[in-house]
Amino acid sequence: MEYSTLAELYSRLEEVPSKLKKTEILAEFLVNAPSNELEKIVLLVQGKVFPGHSENELGVASQMMMKSISKATGLSAHSVEDKFKKTGDLGLAVEECIKSRKQSTLLKRKLSVSHVFENLQKLSTITGSGSQDRKQSLISELIVSASPIEARYIVRTIIGDLRVGTAEGIIRDSIVKAFLKSESKEEKNQFTSAVENAWSLLNDYGEVAKIAKEHGIKGLEKVGVQLGKPMQVMLGIAVEKIEDVTKEFGKVIAEYKYDGMRVIIEKKGNKTWLFTRRQEDVTKQFPDIVDLAKKCLKADECIVEGEALGIDAKTGYPLPFQTLSQRVHRKYDIEKMVKEIPVQVNLFDVMSVNGKSFFEVQLKDRKKELNKIVKPIKGKFQLAKALVTDNPKELEKFYREALAGKQEGLMLKVPDSTYTFGRHVGTMYKIKGVMENLDLVVIGATWGEGSRTSWLTSYEIACRDPNSGKLLSCGMMSTGLSEEEYKQMTESLRKSIIEEKGKMVKVKPKIVLEVGYQEIQKSVNYESGFALRFPRFVRIREDKGPEEADTLDRVKSLSKSHGKAG
Ligand code: AMP
Repeated sequence: MEYSTLAELYSRLEEVPSKLKKTEILAEFLVNAPSNELEKIVLLVQGKVFPGHSENELGVASQMMMKSISKATGLSAHSVEDKFKKTGDLGLAVEECIKSRKQSTLLKRKLSVSHVFENLQKLSTITGSGSQDRKQSLISELIVSASPIEARYIVRTIIGDLRVGTAEGIIRDSIVKAFLKSESKEEKNQFTSAVENAWSLLNDYGEVAKIAKEHGIKGLEKVGVQLGKPMQVMLGIAVEKIEDVTKEFGKVIAEYKYDGMRVIIEKKGNKTWLFTRRQEDVTKQFPDIVDLAKKCLKADECIVEGEALGIDAKTGYPLPFQTLSQRVHRKYDIEKMVKEIPVQVNLFDVMSVNGKSFFEVQLKDRKKELNKIVKPIKGKFQLAKALVTDNPKELEKFYREALAGKQEGLMLKVPDSTYTFGRHVGTMYKIKGVMENLDLVVIGATWGEGSRTSWLTSYEIACRDPNSGKLLSCGMMSTGLSEEEYKQMTESLRKSIIEEKGKMVKVKPKIVLEVGYQEIQKSVNYESGFALRFPRFVRIREDKGPEEADTLDRVKSLSKSHGKAG
Protein backbone atom coordinates (compact mmCIF):
# COMPACT_ATOMS: atom_id res chain seq x y z
CA MET A 1 0.00 0.00 0.00
CA GLU A 2 1.18 3.51 -0.71
CA TYR A 3 1.88 5.59 2.37
CA SER A 4 -0.27 8.39 0.93
CA THR A 5 -3.35 6.13 1.32
CA LEU A 6 -2.55 5.74 5.01
CA ALA A 7 -1.91 9.48 5.35
CA GLU A 8 -5.38 10.13 3.88
CA LEU A 9 -6.85 7.80 6.50
CA TYR A 10 -5.02 9.63 9.30
CA SER A 11 -6.31 12.92 8.05
CA ARG A 12 -9.93 11.67 7.93
CA LEU A 13 -9.59 10.24 11.45
CA GLU A 14 -8.16 13.51 12.66
CA GLU A 15 -11.08 15.45 11.22
CA VAL A 16 -13.91 13.44 12.80
CA PRO A 17 -14.28 13.73 16.56
CA SER A 18 -16.94 11.02 16.93
CA LYS A 19 -15.66 7.67 18.19
CA LEU A 20 -18.34 5.80 16.26
CA LYS A 21 -17.43 7.50 13.00
CA LYS A 22 -13.73 6.86 13.60
CA THR A 23 -14.51 3.17 14.19
CA GLU A 24 -16.49 3.00 10.94
CA ILE A 25 -13.75 4.68 8.91
CA LEU A 26 -11.04 2.49 10.38
CA ALA A 27 -13.03 -0.74 10.04
CA GLU A 28 -13.63 -0.08 6.35
CA PHE A 29 -9.94 0.61 5.90
CA LEU A 30 -8.93 -2.63 7.64
CA VAL A 31 -11.29 -4.69 5.47
CA ASN A 32 -9.55 -3.41 2.36
CA ALA A 33 -6.00 -3.48 3.73
CA PRO A 34 -3.74 -6.07 2.09
CA SER A 35 -3.26 -9.10 4.37
CA ASN A 36 0.52 -8.97 4.26
CA GLU A 37 0.53 -5.39 5.54
CA LEU A 38 -2.35 -5.63 8.01
CA GLU A 39 -0.18 -6.05 11.11
CA LYS A 40 1.97 -3.06 10.21
CA ILE A 41 -1.06 -0.93 9.42
CA VAL A 42 -2.76 -1.71 12.73
CA LEU A 43 0.40 -0.70 14.59
CA LEU A 44 0.79 2.45 12.53
CA VAL A 45 -2.78 3.61 13.08
CA GLN A 46 -2.02 3.48 16.80
CA GLY A 47 1.05 5.62 16.16
CA LYS A 48 3.37 2.69 16.90
CA VAL A 49 5.98 0.69 15.03
CA PHE A 50 6.50 -1.87 17.79
CA PRO A 51 3.89 -3.74 19.83
CA GLY A 52 3.17 -2.49 23.35
CA HIS A 53 5.44 -4.90 25.18
CA SER A 54 8.48 -4.21 23.00
CA GLU A 55 11.42 -2.51 24.65
CA ASN A 56 12.50 -0.86 21.42
CA GLU A 57 12.29 2.90 21.33
CA LEU A 58 12.80 5.30 18.44
CA GLY A 59 14.61 7.74 20.72
CA VAL A 60 13.95 10.91 18.74
CA ALA A 61 13.17 14.11 20.67
CA SER A 62 11.87 17.39 19.26
CA GLN A 63 15.34 18.98 18.97
CA MET A 64 16.64 16.21 16.75
CA MET A 65 13.44 16.28 14.74
CA MET A 66 13.80 20.02 14.05
CA LYS A 67 17.35 19.46 12.82
CA SER A 68 16.16 16.65 10.53
CA ILE A 69 13.39 18.84 9.12
CA SER A 70 15.85 21.64 8.51
CA LYS A 71 18.23 19.25 6.73
CA ALA A 72 15.46 17.79 4.58
CA THR A 73 13.84 21.07 3.56
CA GLY A 74 16.85 23.35 3.40
CA LEU A 75 15.12 25.83 5.74
CA SER A 76 17.17 27.25 8.60
CA ALA A 77 16.90 25.65 12.03
CA HIS A 78 15.58 28.97 13.24
CA SER A 79 12.74 29.06 10.79
CA VAL A 80 11.76 25.45 11.57
CA GLU A 81 11.70 26.32 15.26
CA ASP A 82 9.54 29.36 14.55
CA LYS A 83 6.99 27.23 12.74
CA PHE A 84 7.03 24.74 15.62
CA LYS A 85 6.43 27.51 18.15
CA LYS A 86 3.64 28.96 16.05
CA THR A 87 1.76 25.68 15.48
CA GLY A 88 2.77 23.82 18.63
CA ASP A 89 2.95 20.67 16.52
CA LEU A 90 6.00 19.35 14.68
CA GLY A 91 3.70 17.57 12.22
CA LEU A 92 2.10 20.83 11.10
CA ALA A 93 5.49 22.54 11.22
CA VAL A 94 7.07 20.07 8.77
CA GLU A 95 4.05 20.34 6.52
CA GLU A 96 4.44 24.12 6.35
CA CYS A 97 8.19 23.80 5.82
CA ILE A 98 7.71 21.52 2.82
CA LYS A 99 5.04 23.79 1.36
CA SER A 100 7.26 26.86 1.72
CA ARG A 101 10.37 25.12 0.38
CA LYS A 102 11.47 26.98 -2.73
CA GLN A 103 12.39 24.05 -4.91
CA SER A 104 10.47 20.84 -4.77
CA THR A 105 12.51 17.77 -5.39
CA LEU A 106 11.95 16.34 -8.80
CA LEU A 107 11.42 12.68 -9.48
CA LYS A 108 10.12 11.93 -6.02
CA ARG A 109 9.72 8.26 -5.39
CA LYS A 110 6.43 7.13 -3.94
CA LEU A 111 6.63 6.03 -0.33
CA SER A 112 5.10 2.69 0.55
CA VAL A 113 3.73 1.78 3.99
CA SER A 114 6.30 -1.01 4.31
CA HIS A 115 9.19 1.26 3.40
CA VAL A 116 8.20 3.88 5.99
CA PHE A 117 7.51 1.21 8.63
CA GLU A 118 10.83 -0.55 8.13
CA ASN A 119 12.78 2.69 8.24
CA LEU A 120 11.04 3.80 11.40
CA GLN A 121 11.84 0.46 13.01
CA LYS A 122 15.44 0.90 11.90
CA LEU A 123 15.68 4.07 14.01
CA SER A 124 15.61 2.00 17.17
CA THR A 125 18.60 -0.05 16.05
CA ILE A 126 20.85 2.97 15.54
CA THR A 127 22.96 3.34 18.68
CA GLY A 128 26.47 4.30 19.73
CA SER A 129 28.73 7.06 18.50
CA GLY A 130 27.40 9.12 15.61
CA SER A 131 23.94 7.70 16.14
CA GLN A 132 22.36 11.17 16.28
CA ASP A 133 23.65 12.02 12.82
CA ARG A 134 22.63 8.69 11.34
CA LYS A 135 19.14 8.99 12.80
CA GLN A 136 18.82 12.51 11.42
CA SER A 137 19.85 11.35 7.95
CA LEU A 138 17.37 8.51 7.97
CA ILE A 139 14.53 10.85 9.02
CA SER A 140 15.56 13.49 6.47
CA GLU A 141 15.54 10.91 3.70
CA LEU A 142 11.96 10.02 4.52
CA ILE A 143 10.90 13.67 4.70
CA VAL A 144 12.56 14.45 1.36
CA SER A 145 10.46 11.79 -0.35
CA ALA A 146 7.25 12.74 1.44
CA SER A 147 4.39 15.00 0.39
CA PRO A 148 3.41 17.65 2.97
CA ILE A 149 0.60 15.55 4.43
CA GLU A 150 2.72 12.37 4.48
CA ALA A 151 5.48 14.25 6.30
CA ARG A 152 2.97 15.47 8.89
CA TYR A 153 2.23 11.89 9.96
CA ILE A 154 5.72 10.49 9.57
CA VAL A 155 7.05 13.16 11.91
CA ARG A 156 4.24 12.73 14.40
CA THR A 157 4.72 8.95 14.44
CA ILE A 158 8.43 9.33 15.11
CA ILE A 159 7.98 11.68 18.03
CA GLY A 160 5.12 9.55 19.36
CA ASP A 161 2.33 12.10 19.09
CA LEU A 162 0.02 11.04 16.25
CA ARG A 163 -2.99 13.15 17.30
CA VAL A 164 -5.64 11.23 15.37
CA GLY A 165 -7.53 9.95 18.41
CA THR A 166 -7.32 6.21 17.97
CA ALA A 167 -7.49 4.94 21.54
CA GLU A 168 -7.34 1.21 22.18
CA GLY A 169 -11.14 0.90 22.40
CA ILE A 170 -11.49 2.25 18.85
CA ILE A 171 -8.88 -0.16 17.52
CA ARG A 172 -10.63 -3.09 19.21
CA ASP A 173 -14.09 -2.09 17.93
CA SER A 174 -12.76 -1.52 14.41
CA ILE A 175 -11.24 -5.00 14.32
CA VAL A 176 -14.60 -6.44 15.42
CA LYS A 177 -16.51 -4.39 12.85
CA ALA A 178 -14.09 -5.27 10.09
CA PHE A 179 -13.83 -9.02 10.57
CA LEU A 180 -17.09 -10.17 12.16
CA LYS A 181 -19.48 -11.09 9.40
CA SER A 182 -22.62 -11.31 11.55
CA GLU A 183 -24.99 -8.52 12.63
CA SER A 184 -26.16 -10.38 15.77
CA LYS A 185 -25.57 -8.54 19.04
CA GLU A 186 -24.69 -11.71 20.90
CA GLU A 187 -22.06 -12.69 18.35
CA LYS A 188 -20.70 -9.19 18.44
CA ASN A 189 -20.24 -9.39 22.22
CA GLN A 190 -18.56 -12.77 21.90
CA PHE A 191 -16.25 -11.57 19.15
CA THR A 192 -15.38 -8.42 21.13
CA SER A 193 -14.46 -10.38 24.22
CA ALA A 194 -12.42 -12.84 22.10
CA VAL A 195 -10.52 -9.89 20.58
CA GLU A 196 -9.94 -8.42 24.04
CA ASN A 197 -8.75 -11.72 25.45
CA ALA A 198 -6.38 -12.36 22.58
CA TRP A 199 -4.98 -8.85 22.98
CA SER A 200 -4.52 -9.35 26.73
CA LEU A 201 -2.34 -12.35 25.98
CA LEU A 202 -0.50 -11.06 22.89
CA ASN A 203 -0.30 -7.34 23.65
CA ASP A 204 -0.38 -6.54 19.98
CA TYR A 205 -3.53 -5.49 18.09
CA GLY A 206 -1.60 -6.03 14.84
CA GLU A 207 -1.29 -9.75 15.52
CA VAL A 208 -4.86 -9.88 16.83
CA ALA A 209 -6.23 -8.26 13.64
CA LYS A 210 -4.38 -10.79 11.49
CA ILE A 211 -5.81 -13.73 13.46
CA ALA A 212 -9.30 -12.18 13.39
CA LYS A 213 -9.11 -11.76 9.61
CA GLU A 214 -7.63 -15.17 8.80
CA HIS A 215 -9.21 -17.44 11.43
CA GLY A 216 -12.18 -15.53 12.89
CA ILE A 217 -13.44 -16.14 16.42
CA LYS A 218 -12.12 -19.73 16.50
CA GLY A 219 -8.59 -18.50 15.91
CA LEU A 220 -8.94 -15.76 18.53
CA GLU A 221 -10.25 -18.20 21.11
CA LYS A 222 -7.35 -20.51 20.46
CA VAL A 223 -4.82 -17.88 21.54
CA GLY A 224 -3.44 -19.25 24.77
CA VAL A 225 -0.77 -18.21 27.24
CA GLN A 226 2.57 -17.66 25.63
CA LEU A 227 5.37 -18.62 27.99
CA GLY A 228 8.08 -16.01 27.70
CA LYS A 229 5.70 -13.26 26.64
CA PRO A 230 4.07 -10.71 28.96
CA MET A 231 0.32 -10.39 29.43
CA GLN A 232 -2.22 -8.03 30.93
CA VAL A 233 -3.21 -8.60 34.55
CA MET A 234 -6.31 -8.44 36.74
CA LEU A 235 -6.68 -5.30 38.86
CA GLY A 236 -8.85 -4.25 41.77
CA ILE A 237 -11.41 -1.48 42.19
CA ALA A 238 -11.05 0.82 45.21
CA VAL A 239 -13.72 0.63 47.91
CA GLU A 240 -14.13 2.76 51.00
CA LYS A 241 -15.35 0.16 53.47
CA ILE A 242 -14.84 -3.58 53.85
CA GLU A 243 -18.59 -3.96 54.21
CA ASP A 244 -19.15 -2.57 50.73
CA VAL A 245 -17.77 -5.88 49.53
CA THR A 246 -18.99 -8.34 52.18
CA LYS A 247 -22.56 -7.03 51.87
CA GLU A 248 -22.59 -7.87 48.20
CA PHE A 249 -20.58 -11.09 48.10
CA GLY A 250 -20.63 -12.60 51.61
CA LYS A 251 -17.48 -14.63 51.95
CA VAL A 252 -14.31 -13.12 50.51
CA ILE A 253 -10.68 -14.09 50.20
CA ALA A 254 -8.86 -11.18 51.85
CA GLU A 255 -5.15 -10.79 51.26
CA TYR A 256 -2.56 -8.31 52.39
CA LYS A 257 -2.15 -5.56 49.82
CA TYR A 258 1.62 -5.32 49.58
CA ASP A 259 3.19 -2.14 48.29
CA GLY A 260 5.77 -3.51 45.93
CA MET A 261 6.13 -4.59 42.31
CA ARG A 262 3.60 -6.90 40.71
CA VAL A 263 5.55 -9.79 39.26
CA ILE A 264 4.32 -12.38 36.79
CA ILE A 265 6.63 -15.36 36.94
CA GLU A 266 6.69 -17.61 33.89
CA LYS A 267 8.59 -20.87 34.06
CA LYS A 268 9.34 -23.39 31.32
CA GLY A 269 11.83 -26.09 32.30
CA ASN A 270 15.07 -24.33 33.13
CA LYS A 271 13.96 -20.99 31.77
CA THR A 272 12.23 -18.34 33.83
CA TRP A 273 10.87 -14.94 32.82
CA LEU A 274 9.66 -12.12 35.03
CA PHE A 275 7.24 -9.44 33.85
CA THR A 276 5.68 -6.43 35.53
CA ARG A 277 2.06 -5.41 35.25
CA ARG A 278 3.11 -2.99 32.49
CA GLN A 279 4.53 -5.92 30.50
CA GLU A 280 8.15 -4.93 31.10
CA ASP A 281 10.64 -7.78 31.16
CA VAL A 282 12.54 -7.55 34.48
CA THR A 283 14.15 -11.00 34.39
CA LYS A 284 17.68 -9.60 34.25
CA GLN A 285 17.07 -7.17 37.09
CA PHE A 286 15.91 -9.83 39.54
CA PRO A 287 18.20 -12.89 39.34
CA ASP A 288 17.31 -13.55 43.01
CA ILE A 289 13.63 -14.04 42.11
CA VAL A 290 14.63 -16.27 39.18
CA ASP A 291 16.65 -18.47 41.57
CA LEU A 292 13.82 -18.64 44.08
CA ALA A 293 11.33 -19.51 41.35
CA LYS A 294 13.57 -22.36 40.18
CA LYS A 295 13.81 -23.73 43.70
CA CYS A 296 10.25 -23.18 44.83
CA LEU A 297 8.02 -23.79 41.81
CA LYS A 298 7.46 -27.52 41.50
CA ALA A 299 5.64 -27.54 38.16
CA ASP A 300 7.76 -27.87 35.01
CA GLU A 301 5.78 -25.18 33.28
CA CYS A 302 3.68 -22.55 34.99
CA ILE A 303 2.66 -18.91 35.27
CA VAL A 304 2.11 -17.52 38.75
CA GLU A 305 1.85 -14.00 40.04
CA GLY A 306 2.55 -12.13 43.21
CA GLU A 307 4.01 -8.99 44.68
CA ALA A 308 7.75 -8.53 45.16
CA LEU A 309 8.61 -6.40 48.17
CA GLY A 310 11.89 -4.83 49.16
CA ILE A 311 12.68 -5.93 52.71
CA ASP A 312 14.68 -4.10 55.35
CA ALA A 313 17.08 -6.82 56.50
CA LYS A 314 17.34 -5.30 59.99
CA THR A 315 13.68 -4.81 60.84
CA GLY A 316 12.04 -7.32 58.50
CA TYR A 317 9.55 -4.58 57.54
CA PRO A 318 8.86 -3.76 53.90
CA LEU A 319 10.95 -1.00 52.37
CA PRO A 320 9.15 1.86 50.60
CA PHE A 321 8.39 1.17 46.97
CA GLN A 322 10.78 3.97 45.90
CA THR A 323 13.64 1.89 47.30
CA LEU A 324 12.65 -1.26 45.44
CA SER A 325 12.03 0.75 42.28
CA GLN A 326 15.78 1.43 42.08
CA ARG A 327 16.06 -2.19 41.01
CA VAL A 328 13.31 -2.19 38.39
CA HIS A 329 15.13 -0.45 35.53
CA ARG A 330 18.66 -1.18 36.67
CA LYS A 331 21.08 -2.10 33.88
CA TYR A 332 24.34 -2.42 35.86
CA ASP A 333 25.50 -3.38 39.38
CA ILE A 334 22.67 -5.88 39.51
CA GLU A 335 24.41 -8.23 41.96
CA LYS A 336 25.17 -5.34 44.26
CA MET A 337 21.50 -4.34 44.26
CA VAL A 338 20.45 -7.92 44.99
CA LYS A 339 22.44 -7.69 48.23
CA GLU A 340 21.50 -4.12 49.12
CA ILE A 341 17.79 -4.45 48.49
CA PRO A 342 16.72 -8.03 49.18
CA VAL A 343 13.24 -8.99 48.04
CA GLN A 344 10.41 -11.12 49.26
CA VAL A 345 7.85 -12.58 46.87
CA ASN A 346 4.26 -13.00 48.06
CA LEU A 347 2.29 -15.12 45.59
CA PHE A 348 -1.42 -14.74 45.14
CA ASP A 349 -2.51 -16.33 41.86
CA VAL A 350 -1.81 -18.91 39.18
CA MET A 351 -2.74 -18.64 35.51
CA SER A 352 -1.32 -21.76 33.93
CA VAL A 353 0.22 -25.08 34.98
CA ASN A 354 1.80 -27.64 32.64
CA GLY A 355 -0.16 -26.49 29.62
CA LYS A 356 -3.50 -26.19 31.44
CA SER A 357 -4.94 -22.72 31.47
CA PHE A 358 -6.45 -21.55 34.78
CA PHE A 359 -8.18 -18.36 33.64
CA GLU A 360 -11.60 -20.02 33.71
CA VAL A 361 -10.98 -21.77 37.04
CA GLN A 362 -12.48 -20.17 40.17
CA LEU A 363 -10.14 -18.27 42.45
CA LYS A 364 -10.64 -20.65 45.39
CA ASP A 365 -9.49 -23.55 43.17
CA ARG A 366 -6.63 -21.53 41.68
CA LYS A 367 -5.48 -20.97 45.26
CA LYS A 368 -5.53 -24.74 45.88
CA GLU A 369 -3.43 -25.28 42.77
CA LEU A 370 -0.99 -22.54 43.80
CA ASN A 371 -0.61 -24.26 47.15
CA LYS A 372 0.17 -27.51 45.37
CA ILE A 373 2.88 -26.20 43.08
CA VAL A 374 4.74 -23.92 45.51
CA LYS A 375 7.30 -25.14 48.02
CA PRO A 376 7.59 -21.93 50.05
CA ILE A 377 10.68 -20.51 51.70
CA LYS A 378 9.42 -18.40 54.59
CA GLY A 379 10.13 -14.70 54.27
CA LYS A 380 11.53 -15.14 50.74
CA PHE A 381 9.07 -16.86 48.45
CA GLN A 382 5.73 -17.54 50.03
CA LEU A 383 1.97 -17.38 49.60
CA ALA A 384 0.40 -13.98 50.26
CA LYS A 385 -1.08 -13.72 53.73
CA ALA A 386 -4.80 -14.45 53.40
CA LEU A 387 -7.99 -14.81 55.39
CA VAL A 388 -11.21 -16.36 54.10
CA THR A 389 -14.32 -15.15 55.90
CA ASP A 390 -17.58 -13.24 55.64
CA ASN A 391 -17.16 -11.70 59.08
CA PRO A 392 -16.51 -7.94 58.82
CA LYS A 393 -15.06 -7.81 62.35
CA GLU A 394 -12.43 -10.44 61.55
CA LEU A 395 -11.67 -8.61 58.33
CA GLU A 396 -11.28 -5.29 60.19
CA LYS A 397 -8.81 -6.98 62.53
CA PHE A 398 -6.91 -8.47 59.60
CA TYR A 399 -6.87 -5.04 57.94
CA ARG A 400 -5.39 -3.38 61.04
CA GLU A 401 -2.82 -6.17 61.26
CA ALA A 402 -1.80 -5.46 57.63
CA LEU A 403 -1.44 -1.75 58.34
CA ALA A 404 0.51 -2.43 61.54
CA GLY A 405 2.85 -4.61 59.46
CA LYS A 406 3.43 -1.54 57.25
CA GLN A 407 1.52 -2.99 54.31
CA GLU A 408 -0.72 -0.85 52.13
CA GLY A 409 -4.10 -2.35 53.04
CA LEU A 410 -6.16 -5.33 51.89
CA MET A 411 -7.30 -6.87 48.64
CA LEU A 412 -10.77 -8.42 48.84
CA LYS A 413 -11.41 -11.07 46.22
CA VAL A 414 -14.52 -13.03 45.32
CA PRO A 415 -13.80 -16.78 45.82
CA ASP A 416 -15.73 -18.06 42.81
CA SER A 417 -14.44 -15.46 40.34
CA THR A 418 -12.48 -16.35 37.23
CA TYR A 419 -9.27 -14.56 36.22
CA THR A 420 -10.34 -11.57 34.13
CA PHE A 421 -7.95 -9.05 32.60
CA GLY A 422 -8.26 -5.39 33.50
CA ARG A 423 -9.69 -3.33 36.32
CA HIS A 424 -13.44 -3.16 36.00
CA VAL A 425 -14.25 -6.79 36.50
CA GLY A 426 -16.14 -6.38 39.76
CA THR A 427 -14.67 -9.35 41.60
CA MET A 428 -11.52 -7.87 43.07
CA TYR A 429 -11.43 -4.86 45.40
CA LYS A 430 -8.77 -2.92 47.23
CA ILE A 431 -8.89 -0.90 50.40
CA LYS A 432 -6.00 1.28 51.44
CA GLY A 433 -5.03 2.66 54.82
CA VAL A 434 -4.83 6.38 54.45
CA MET A 435 -6.79 8.84 52.37
CA GLU A 436 -5.79 7.90 48.90
CA ASN A 437 -3.22 9.84 47.01
CA LEU A 438 -3.94 10.32 43.33
CA ASP A 439 -1.90 8.95 40.48
CA LEU A 440 -1.80 11.74 37.89
CA VAL A 441 -0.11 12.25 34.54
CA VAL A 442 2.37 15.05 33.89
CA ILE A 443 1.21 16.92 30.76
CA GLY A 444 3.27 20.08 31.09
CA ALA A 445 5.85 21.88 33.16
CA THR A 446 7.51 25.26 33.65
CA TRP A 447 11.18 26.19 33.79
CA GLY A 448 12.37 27.38 37.20
CA GLU A 449 13.58 30.78 38.32
CA GLY A 450 16.96 32.07 39.53
CA SER A 451 19.43 29.27 40.04
CA ARG A 452 16.88 26.80 38.72
CA THR A 453 16.37 28.12 35.22
CA SER A 454 17.67 24.91 33.69
CA TRP A 455 15.26 22.76 35.69
CA LEU A 456 11.62 22.04 35.12
CA THR A 457 10.32 22.74 38.62
CA SER A 458 6.56 22.95 38.39
CA TYR A 459 4.43 20.21 36.85
CA GLU A 460 0.99 20.31 35.32
CA ILE A 461 -0.83 17.21 36.51
CA ALA A 462 -3.86 15.66 34.90
CA CYS A 463 -6.43 12.96 35.45
CA ARG A 464 -7.94 10.78 32.78
CA ASP A 465 -11.39 10.97 31.23
CA PRO A 466 -12.00 7.43 29.94
CA ASN A 467 -14.99 8.61 27.89
CA SER A 468 -13.17 11.13 25.74
CA GLY A 469 -9.71 9.55 26.15
CA LYS A 470 -8.45 13.01 27.16
CA LEU A 471 -6.14 14.00 29.98
CA LEU A 472 -7.65 16.83 31.98
CA SER A 473 -5.54 19.16 34.02
CA CYS A 474 -6.22 19.43 37.76
CA GLY A 475 -3.45 21.69 38.97
CA MET A 476 0.21 22.57 39.09
CA MET A 477 2.49 20.81 41.55
CA SER A 478 5.92 21.98 42.60
CA THR A 479 6.66 20.85 46.14
CA GLY A 480 7.81 17.71 47.83
CA LEU A 481 10.72 16.88 45.52
CA SER A 482 14.36 16.58 46.49
CA GLU A 483 17.06 18.23 44.31
CA GLU A 484 17.77 14.79 42.90
CA GLU A 485 14.11 14.26 42.02
CA TYR A 486 13.87 17.67 40.30
CA LYS A 487 16.87 16.68 38.20
CA GLN A 488 15.43 13.27 37.40
CA MET A 489 12.10 14.83 36.42
CA THR A 490 13.82 17.44 34.26
CA GLU A 491 15.87 14.81 32.46
CA SER A 492 12.86 12.59 31.77
CA LEU A 493 10.56 15.44 30.73
CA ARG A 494 13.10 17.21 28.54
CA LYS A 495 13.03 14.25 26.14
CA SER A 496 9.25 14.47 25.83
CA ILE A 497 8.72 18.16 25.09
CA ILE A 498 6.24 18.63 22.27
CA GLU A 499 5.54 22.34 22.57
CA GLU A 500 7.31 25.26 24.19
CA LYS A 501 5.96 28.78 24.85
CA GLY A 502 8.02 31.11 27.03
CA LYS A 503 8.68 29.28 30.25
CA MET A 504 5.90 26.76 29.72
CA VAL A 505 6.35 23.44 28.00
CA LYS A 506 3.89 20.78 26.99
CA VAL A 507 5.12 17.21 27.24
CA LYS A 508 4.09 13.90 25.81
CA PRO A 509 2.07 12.22 28.59
CA LYS A 510 4.38 9.51 29.87
CA ILE A 511 5.16 10.08 33.53
CA VAL A 512 2.65 9.24 36.24
CA LEU A 513 3.17 10.81 39.65
CA GLU A 514 1.61 9.86 42.93
CA VAL A 515 0.39 13.13 44.33
CA GLY A 516 -0.72 13.99 47.88
CA TYR A 517 -2.91 17.01 48.65
CA GLN A 518 -4.95 18.57 51.39
CA GLU A 519 -8.25 18.76 49.62
CA ILE A 520 -9.92 18.83 46.22
CA GLN A 521 -11.87 21.90 45.23
CA LYS A 522 -14.09 22.74 42.29
CA SER A 523 -12.29 25.09 39.97
CA VAL A 524 -12.92 26.82 36.69
CA ASN A 525 -9.19 27.27 36.14
CA TYR A 526 -8.47 23.70 35.16
CA GLU A 527 -9.96 21.57 32.42
CA SER A 528 -11.07 18.83 34.82
CA GLY A 529 -13.20 21.29 36.75
CA PHE A 530 -11.25 20.44 39.91
CA ALA A 531 -8.07 21.69 41.53
CA LEU A 532 -5.92 19.89 44.10
CA ARG A 533 -5.10 22.18 47.01
CA PHE A 534 -1.49 22.04 48.17
CA PRO A 535 -0.51 19.20 45.88
CA ARG A 536 2.79 17.60 46.80
CA PHE A 537 5.00 15.04 45.14
CA VAL A 538 4.98 11.59 46.74
CA ARG A 539 6.76 9.46 44.15
CA ILE A 540 7.08 8.62 40.47
CA ARG A 541 4.77 5.70 39.64
CA GLU A 542 7.18 3.87 37.38
CA ASP A 543 4.84 0.90 37.38
CA LYS A 544 1.99 2.86 35.81
CA GLY A 545 1.41 4.38 32.39
CA PRO A 546 -0.92 7.30 31.58
CA GLU A 547 -3.67 4.86 30.68
CA GLU A 548 -3.68 3.72 34.30
CA ALA A 549 -3.76 7.14 35.92
CA ASP A 550 -6.70 8.03 38.14
CA THR A 551 -9.90 9.04 36.39
CA LEU A 552 -11.99 12.17 36.50
CA ASP A 553 -14.68 10.15 38.30
CA ARG A 554 -12.21 9.19 41.01
CA VAL A 555 -11.19 12.83 41.49
CA LYS A 556 -14.86 13.77 41.64
CA SER A 557 -15.72 11.09 44.18
CA LEU A 558 -12.72 11.88 46.38
CA SER A 559 -13.69 15.54 46.28
CA LYS A 560 -17.13 14.55 47.56
CA SER A 561 -15.80 12.26 50.26
CA HIS A 562 -13.74 15.12 51.61
CA GLY A 563 -16.91 17.16 51.79
CA LYS A 564 -15.22 20.16 50.26
CA ALA A 565 -16.77 20.29 46.84
CA GLY A 566 -20.07 19.48 45.20
P1 AMP B 1 -3.22 -0.08 42.63
O1 AMP B 1 -1.85 0.12 42.10
O2 AMP B 1 -3.53 0.74 43.84
O3 AMP B 1 -4.29 -0.05 41.58
O4 AMP B 1 -3.27 -1.60 43.19
C1 AMP B 1 -3.08 -2.74 42.39
C2 AMP B 1 -1.75 -3.38 42.69
O5 AMP B 1 -1.72 -3.92 44.01
C3 AMP B 1 -1.45 -4.59 41.84
O6 AMP B 1 -0.93 -4.26 40.59
C4 AMP B 1 -0.43 -5.35 42.66
O7 AMP B 1 0.87 -4.96 42.25
C5 AMP B 1 -0.66 -4.86 44.07
N1 AMP B 1 -0.99 -5.93 45.05
C6 AMP B 1 -0.43 -6.03 46.27
N2 AMP B 1 -0.90 -7.07 46.94
C7 AMP B 1 -1.79 -7.69 46.12
C8 AMP B 1 -2.62 -8.85 46.26
N3 AMP B 1 -2.64 -9.58 47.37
N4 AMP B 1 -3.41 -9.18 45.19
C9 AMP B 1 -3.41 -8.43 44.05
N5 AMP B 1 -2.64 -7.34 43.87
C10 AMP B 1 -1.85 -6.95 44.90
